[in-house]
Formats: sequence, C-alpha cells, structure tokens
Amino acid sequence: MSIRFLPRVLASLFIFGAFVSSLTAGDSVIALKAARLFDGKSKALITNGVVIVQGTTITDAGSNLPIPSGAQVIDLGNATLSPGFMDAHTHLTFDFSGNFNERRLKLLETNVSELAFMTIPNARATIEAGFTTVRDLGSRFEGSHDFVDVALRNAIAKGIFVGPRMLVATYGIGATGGHFDDTAGFRDFLFRHEPDFSDGIADSPDAIRKAVRFQIKNGADVIKAAVSGGVLSLTDEVDTPQFTPAEMVALVDETHRLRKKIAVHCHGDQAAKEAIEAGVDSIEHGSFLKPETLQLMKTKGTYLVPTLMATEWIMGKVDTYPPAVAAKAKAAAAARSEMFRNAVKLGVKIGLGTDAAVYPHGQNAKEFKLMVDLGMPPLEALRAGTSVDADLLGISQKVGTLEKGKLADIVAIPGDPTTDITATERVSFVMKEGKIVKNTTR
Ligand SMILES: [Zn+2]
Repeated sequence: MSIRFLPRVLASLFIFGAFVSSLTAGDSVIALKAARLFDGKSKALITNGVVIVQGTTITDAGSNLPIPSGAQVIDLGNATLSPGFMDAHTHLTFDFSGNFNERRLKLLETNVSELAFMTIPNARATIEAGFTTVRDLGSRFEGSHDFVDVALRNAIAKGIFVGPRMLVATYGIGATGGHFDDTAGFRDFLFRHEPDFSDGIADSPDAIRKAVRFQIKNGADVIKAAVSGGVLSLTDEVDTPQFTPAEMVALVDETHRLRKKIAVHCHGDQAAKEAIEAGVDSIEHGSFLKPETLQLMKTKGTYLVPTLMATEWIMGKVDTYPPAVAAKAKAAAAARSEMFRNAVKLGVKIGLGTDAAVYPHGQNAKEFKLMVDLGMPPLEALRAGTSVDADLLGISQKVGTLEKGKLADIVAIPGDPTTDITATERVSFVMKEGKIVKNTTR
C-alpha cells in the first residue's frame, strides 16, 4: 500500500473499530435463536432463525442451524432477528423537540461543553431503540468552532459511551441567509461577523470547495449541504434553490474527488433537479419533488431519504412554531405524502432516515410505520432501514445484513413485523459488534 492511501485506510479502521481485530481462538461464541429471521435483503422472513456470533463477527446465519458446542445460547423466543437498524439522517448533538424559541435561546446560552455532555443520553436512546448505525447529518453551535459530532463518534468508537456507530458530517454547508446560516433571523451583526467557510457558509464554487475541504480536514465522513430552503429556519423559503448550478457542480465534484458521499437537504423541485444532475448521492426530505424529478433519481440511482418522522412531529404541534415556520411545515407536509407514494411506485431507492433531534431521540423506529402507512410493504421498509441504508452509507461490506463475515449488529423485534410493523418500536434485544447492549427477555 502506498503511503498516500494510509490516512484513508486508518480512517476506515477507526470507524469500524473492533471489526478489524480478526477472530482469535479465545473469542466466545454466542448462538442467537428466534422464531423468525430477516436477513436484511430477502423478500421473505425465514422461520427458526439462528445467528452464530464469534467475537465481533457473524460466522453463520440461517434457519435451524446446528449450535456449535460450547456456545452460549440466547433464545429470544417469539421474535424476529434482524440486522441492527440504521438511520441515515440524525442529529445526535441536538434536541429541537421542545419549544422552538426556548431551544433557540438555550443553544445561545449554554456552554458548548455542557451541550456536548447532553449528547450522551441521545446516543444511548438511539442504540436502545435498535439503531446500531447512524449517519449524523450536521452539527454546529453558533459562535463555536467545536466539532461535537466528531467527538461523540470517536468516544463511542473507543467505548467511552454506549451509542450507535456514527458517520458524521460536521458543519452542514449552505449559502448566506440559507437554511444553515445560524445568524439568519437575528439582528444584523449581532454575532459580529458574517459566517464563512469556517461555519460551513459558502457562496461561489471556490468557497464551496474550501468549505468541503475544511469539513473533511476536521473529521467529516460524509458531506451535507442545504441546496434548498428548510422548515426550521426563519428567513428562507422552503422550496427555493440556494446554490447556483455551478455551485452545485463544485460541491459534488469536490466531495467526490475527496472520495466522500454528499447528502443534500432539499425540499424544492428545481433545486433537487440541479442537485441530481450534478450527481449528489442522496436527497434528504424531498417534499416537493415532482414525478419527473423522481424519475431522474431512479435513472441516476440517487437515493431518497424522506424523513417522514420530522414532518409528523412538527405537524403534531405546528401552532407552537413561529408563523413563518408553521406555514412552511404545512406546505411541506401537504406535499410529501404524494411525493413518497410516487417514489415507491417508480422504484426510487429509498433509505430510512428520520431527522432525529426534530423529535425526541429514540423514537426513530416510528419511521417504519409511516413508510408502511404510505404504501411501502413492511419488508421493503425494513430493507430501507438496514441493507439499503448500508449501501447509501457505503458500508455494506461490513453491516446491513445477517451474513457470515458481517459485524454482529443484531436486533430482535418481538413477534412478526410483517403483520405489525410497530413491533420495530419495541425491540427486545440489541447487539452491536458482538456486545449485548440491551436484552429485556432475560
Ligand atoms: Zn436534518
């Protein structure tokens, strides 16, 4: 291996932590048994599921497998074994679920170190809900140049806190006055500067290239950008484009040159078209996408991460938001159901992502039911939250299915999720990399 690839290799070793330490003779063997098994990719469940785990890794998975002698047997009874769930859109370092104005003030008042400690229960709630991997799409505290998401990812990987494996985006990249400009809506120069690349804010193709490089320099595994307006911001229209086509091309080109993936926050149809043409890897939210734009995604292989949970939560208390936010939420909510049905019908690749932080952490699995309610078959929803997300995140060689050689990220869903998808909200057992995080069946 040439020396110039070494940093990338080291980075991937870091993300997958214990996986790279190969099996040793002393690793204990665990045999998990349950009435059914979903392998993460098949179109049907199998009965009498067995998964054999040695150390951090799955050594076999299937129906009625023989139990190796000396293995510790954990019988999970009338449950369905599944790969650990994945959420392709979280913000573990935030909690936006309460009152909009209260939390806005609290974010400005609270010491960033204190905010960092407050992420620890968010990580635990997420993994206890069965989500063993998350793609965390943006973390920044106005006036701070800390990288709390990088710190949380690293602390979890080192075993200091319990939490999901994280791929993090550091600061989301956006335009001046756009969805990611945290100074928008406050008095001019209250913060004594206009945000720049060091806050993720960039105007012009070259500034965007610098912002991409800055995020990756500081530990980003994936790049996130806002290419249209958003709901929870005060001065942008939800569906307007925020980058020019030339800026979009620079964003995608620089990210891909540095061998990362690019996820874009996008509600609007025109911005989505330009982003998809430029070659983004995923469209997040996608509320107003028209059928021909969805067809373009299908043709180009672009993923859709619809984050139905976010809209659901905001609509549940829409009148508590400032009028500008409430109006945008209503418009997005009115459009998104038809968009989602069209995407399912057209066969667009759909990953599961929830925008956790908009609602309280740990309720991620409610997204499965929202997808099924809008016409996605239950096993397709489960694939979205396992193998499809693993493909989207670029980690399918390690996780996302129950197969020999994969990391032992395994959950048990009580009963049969194909007859009651809400069973995903009550996982009884969670294992990450061979370590039991939760077992309520004991
Ligand atoms: Zn988000």
